[in-house]
Amino acid sequence: MNRRRLLQIIAGLPLASGLLQRTFAAGQTAPRTSRLRPTDPEWPSEVSWKQLDRDVGGRLIKVRSPLADCVGGTPDANCAQVFKELKNPYYLGDEVGLTQSLGWVGAWTSQPSAYAVAAKTTGDVVAAVNFARTNNLRLVVKGGGHSYQGTSNAADSLLIWTRHMNAVTLHDAFVGAGCEGRAEPQPAVSVEAGAIWGHVYNEVTTNGGRYVQGGGCMTVGVAGLVLGGGFGSFSKAYGTGGSHLIEAEIVTADGEVRIANACSNPDLFWALKGGGGGFGVVTRVTLRTHALPDFFGGASAAIHTTSDDAYRRLIAKTVDFYAQTLFNSHWGEQILIGRGYVGFNMVFQGLDQQQAEAVWKPFFDWVAASPQDFAIVRAPRIQTLPAARRYWDPSLLTGVPGDVIADDRPGAPADNIFWASNLEEAGAVWYAYQSAWLPASLLEADRRQSLADALFAAAKHLGVALHCNKGLAGAPAEAIAAAKDTAMNPAVTDAFALAITAAFGQPTYPGVPGHEPDEAAARSKAEAVEKSMDELRKLLPRVGSYVWETDFFQPNWQDAFWGENYARLRAVKDKYDPNGLFFLHHGVGSESWSADGFTRLN
Ligand SMILES: Cc1cc2nc3c(=O)[nH]c(=O)nc-3n(C[C@H](O)[C@H](O)[C@H](O)COP(=O)(O)OP(=O)(O)OC[C@H]3O[C@@H](n4cnc5c(N)ncnc54)[C@H](O)[C@@H]3O)c2cc1C
Repeated sequence: MNRRRLLQIIAGLPLASGLLQRTFAAGQTAPRTSRLRPTDPEWPSEVSWKQLDRDVGGRLIKVRSPLADCVGGTPDANCAQVFKELKNPYYLGDEVGLTQSLGWVGAWTSQPSAYAVAAKTTGDVVAAVNFARTNNLRLVVKGGGHSYQGTSNAADSLLIWTRHMNAVTLHDAFVGAGCEGRAEPQPAVSVEAGAIWGHVYNEVTTNGGRYVQGGGCMTVGVAGLVLGGGFGSFSKAYGTGGSHLIEAEIVTADGEVRIANACSNPDLFWALKGGGGGFGVVTRVTLRTHALPDFFGGASAAIHTTSDDAYRRLIAKTVDFYAQTLFNSHWGEQILIGRGYVGFNMVFQGLDQQQAEAVWKPFFDWVAASPQDFAIVRAPRIQTLPAARRYWDPSLLTGVPGDVIADDRPGAPADNIFWASNLEEAGAVWYAYQSAWLPASLLEADRRQSLADALFAAAKHLGVALHCNKGLAGAPAEAIAAAKDTAMNPAVTDAFALAITAAFGQPTYPGVPGHEPDEAAARSKAEAVEKSMDELRKLLPRVGSYVWETDFFQPNWQDAFWGENYARLRAVKDKYDPNGLFFLHHGVGSESWSADGFTRLN
């Protein structure tokens, strides 16, 4: 029996709960050890829910998943339509009872909350937090709904849904509250928590001519990304999203609205920059902005090999090429080491068309010199945009076939677009997902061969994606220094990339005839992912993993996500949320709770 199971059983015994109560000093209220479910007699009455509904301006929703009618039924046209819509990330985001991933086989299944507050104002959030706390409810918070770990949904919970809090305000010279005279005014943008990055880029870059550090995927939520650290395509130049936070407004477990910045609640401020959430409900973030570089562009290609020997040589050449030429602030995004092939889906900033082409020429000349070994199956496409300002411009992107997909629902706003490369993840059901930061020391001349060998061995099991923008080694000193002043695992600043191996299936849901998750495929893919990443982990004395893009079952998760920052984060958690109102799977302090977040263990 594992320790968690043992603790769950102990927590259910009267003696144990008596002990727990006694550990609280006289006059202090001991937290209840179990949160309520709708079947419990103490569950709030209809009258109480109606009062909450009035308190939040009629924005309380009794949640029902669009999948509910499909479960156990016979396949019909309505369900077919729902499954079609599950491939539209905007539909998923607009449904209070759904999440971007539908689950992870053996880990979690997307479940609607009992009720949701579709918050419009900070006051709505305060009312919902107070209601959940005083009624001892399981509380979840959902913004963009992109959690791979399922941390923005829970059955029998009250959901605070920030989707409709999405105002964006640009500032020429922002100073955090209480920092007047202590901090230089700086250009910034304030964004309400539930906005998604594509819309923010449109305001800040297309319309405002500035750069803000957000995520690569356009439908990821703003607050959600920042809370985990957050990387975008150009993070190798600008750093993490979290390190750009100047100020946040947050509602903590006691229902207080707090400002967190370098001058007010600095401990909380630090924890919000990559601590993984669970410190309160963020209602607004203010992020530094930058001048735009002259150019943004992309470079892609794919090369297949005809033998193991050729494949080994191609991987070794790729590692050399990356180390010598691409390992700098210009280049981000992904190198894919697949079975028998290498693919490039890279982006760049600050290089014009000629400069970008010159970077790749020697590499492609080398490939072209051995046609018996290598076949270029996706011809190199190197393209600089006419102006960096148009990188996220919907009116430009919708005219380029294949790059973006538009929300096809009738009446959808014109800026509801997403990268075509994110389509396959919409409604995904995960089989496995593992990641590890690869230190830049592996790029030193005498280590490159062992890295290449490990990649070769890994890809025999399953392909590895090297996300070069998700490790900050090679970034400007300022970006690295800013990231060091966040709660993320410090390993991020020494890493040249985050290696990710993952496997998933298209939308399925337990109990829906014809759409059941494929458990056999999930098991075999999960094994392949484990074996693949094991080959890379052999190179690493200590494994660090990015909290938002990681294994649901990550061992030693406190150390993997936060390294030596964990103890400090736990202290912040205990100060602002001592009763664990904001539980999330593998969140700070979650070791004190049962896996479902309903029962306190210690
Ligand atoms: C298709 C896809 C692409 C992605 N691309 C990237 C990428 O390019 N770069 C990157 O770094 N990550 C990426 N991610 C990971 C992503 O950053 C995280 O999943 C992030 O947490 C999503 O935020 P969200 O608001 O969309 O999700 P949600 O599921 O709504 O929230 C994620 C977590 O944050 C909490 N949370 C959300 N809003 C608040 C709030 N206002 N206050 C307090 N807690 C809150 C939730 O409770 C939950 O625990 C991607 C994920 C997906 C599915």
